[in-house]
Amino acid sequence: MGLGKFAKKVGRGAKKAAKKVGRGAKKAGAVALDTTDTVLRGPGRALHDVPVLGRIADSIPSIRDPLAPVFEAVVATSLAKSDPINVPEEYTELVRRYATDVEQDRAWLARGLRAKPRFHHGGWVIKMQPAAGAMTMDNDVFVRRGRSLDVRLYVHELVHVGQYKTFGRTDFLTTYFGLSAATIAYRWVRRRPTEPTRSSPHEKSAYAIDKRFCTWLESQTTSSGTTCPDTT
Ligand SMILES: [Zn+2]
Repeated sequence: MGLGKFAKKVGRGAKKAAKKVGRGAKKAGAVALDTTDTVLRGPGRALHDVPVLGRIADSIPSIRDPLAPVFEAVVATSLAKSDPINVPEEYTELVRRYATDVEQDRAWLARGLRAKPRFHHGGWVIKMQPAAGAMTMDNDVFVRRGRSLDVRLYVHELVHVGQYKTFGRTDFLTTYFGLSAATIAYRWVRRRPTEPTRSSPHEKSAYAIDKRFCTWLESQTTSSGTTCPDTT
């Protein structure tokens, strides 16, 4: 698909999403007015602090995950020009062993493994982050072409998969980039870079875990001699 055609397609998706969010907000607003007396006890309460409104918000995915339509368009168009990577079975086996040994990192890695993420080479989404070796989009991990998927990168991206499962797509991405959902959508639709800083809390955590994993791996004997590179 040409760039112009894609931009139009995603543009349409974003417009639709904006409409949807608008409608959702109106709906939620109407209910909020109806239940003000009995449910809302003061100003400034978060939607999810109010049981009835929390349930309504849960039933409107576009409010909880406003990036969803743009996100899905980015993944679909990236997948179209990518090639699947066969992750060595030993990688998952090593992560399982590590997660059993090191309680501290177990939850993130177990969540990542459970999601059974797919790894790919290429896809334009990785080009939006010139300094990154890979970009995780929920269950799909796009690795820069020419870069091999070593075990350290595998562990690092697996942590990001676990983070997506914990925070949800939109909440993960807004805290990852330190940008609003609207800004991320705007940049993605125009294929502008959305480079995270290494100081993002999710990056800090992922770097710390891949480092601990590599220290652990040094003390292990592996059948194939798998080792970590010095940096992610
Ligand atoms: Zn990362």
